[in-house]
Amino acid sequence: MDNCIFCKIVKREIPSAIVYEDEIIMAFRDISPQAPHHILIIPKIHITSLEEINDTNEYIAGRIISRAAAIAKELKLDGYRLVINTNESAGQTVFHLHCHLLGGRQMKWPPG
Ligand code: AMP
Repeated sequence: MDNCIFCKIVKREIPSAIVYEDEIIMAFRDISPQAPHHILIIPKIHITSLEEINDTNEYIAGRIISRAAAIAKELKLDGYRLVINTNESAGQTVFHLHCHLLGGRQMKWPPG
């Protein structure tokens, strides 16, 4: 999608610190990290939010989650959190599906 910042990252029109890439997903470091390790895992195709995941494309969500866990393992994180903000009321600001992988510090629950 033309005006989507994450689509531009996928196309390398905007630089990012890429930590993983395959034919379906990409993972890169968040520009404004909220933890020592803060990585975003996204589909390469434009999917606006988790609300667009369905029976046909759910393999993409599966790939995102399994790769997030694999990256956490590679980083030797003993604990970590995955967050998928969905819609503005939940804090979504970039409307291209992304999963936050946060780790490297003590987390609190419930979140704000
Ligand atoms: P959300 O609020 O869940 O939509 O998260 C969007 C995330 O994208 C935020 O944590 C931003 O810091 C991050 N972000 C925005 N622009 C960039 C960028 N160019 N490179 C890396 N992360 C970005």
